[in-house]
Amino acid sequence: QAKAAGGNRIGAYTEADATRAGRRLKLEGELRGALERHELSLRYQPIYAASGRLRGFEALLRWNHPELGAVSPAEFVPLAEQTGLIVPIGEWVIREACRMQRETTAKGHADIVMAVNLSPVQLRVPSFVDGMLRLLEECGVPASGLELEITESIMLEAGETTIASLDRLRQAGVRIALDDFGTGYASLTYLRELPIHTLKLDRSFIHPICHQHTERVIVESMISLVHRLGLEVVAEGIEDEDQLALLREWGCDLLQGYLLGRPIEARGMDVHLPKLA
Ligand code: C2E
Ligand code: MG
Ligand code: MG
Ligand code: MG
Repeated sequence: QAKAAGGNRIGAYTEADATRAGRRLKLEGELRGALERHELSLRYQPIYAASGRLRGFEALLRWNHPELGAVSPAEFVPLAEQTGLIVPIGEWVIREACRMQRETTAKGHADIVMAVNLSPVQLRVPSFVDGMLRLLEECGVPASGLELEITESIMLEAGETTIASLDRLRQAGVRIALDDFGTGYASLTYLRELPIHTLKLDRSFIHPICHQHTERVIVESMISLVHRLGLEVVAEGIEDEDQLALLREWGCDLLQGYLLGRPIEARGMDVHLPKLA
């Protein structure tokens, strides 16, 4: 870190670096008990079909730290992956998300799909698929009510077992989505190799579609490419009406972003979720 910031000078290790390292150590140590102390929670961000029908939600993890306040999953999920804690935490996430899927369905939202982010570390646990299928049964959630969001990073250390596990899940009816599409490299290869139903176009592509010709062409062409492969496509991070209008014009199947709905707390989930205009 110090090297990257200040060349080879040893003295470049600044107070800011020390603070950052300190925070990291603190978080790493305290994450262990966070589940038991009920500091973790889920928010649910709505995902709509282009017709305006509510298609489901993406479950997003939050850590409400007693002193530091809200810690972003972008900060603590990597720590949880390094320590292996993502395995019990991820299991808790899936359980909670399934419970919410059932509750929401019971309230009359039929065919709700609950999307859960999956770490590559979870998928490498040999008993993951069996555990997952058992859990769905226990929770009374049909496999088609769950979508697992994976990223290209799953392929970095993936062997055949990773693909085989995804295949088994898919055969059982669990949906698989490729998240953050376009931010990695060799993306098109993965489209061929991974057993997926859904592709999520990363927000960094959606953001500039109203101003940048290149992004406009990329997103419009990606949507038709994905359709021709028989998959469905989600646009992430829609923040304004112009983006929404373009994505609808291009036939994007599913829509997600602050414009349509921010991630909501569990207790806010009883309120009537409005249809898209
Ligand atoms: P992601 O899966 O790509 O999730 C989308 C992120 O974009 C979420 O951030 C969401 O709040 C944010 N977002 C949604 N709509 C908009 C928008 O219109 N504008 C902007 N600027 N942002 C938007 P969040 O909740 O902070 O999560 C960050 C990342 O942390 C997620 O990215 C995912 O990779 C990871 N993550 C979250 N929950 C979990 C989890 O339960 N397990 C694992 N393994 N990773 C998780
Ligand atoms: Mg996601
Ligand atoms: Mg994403
Ligand atoms: Mg993203």
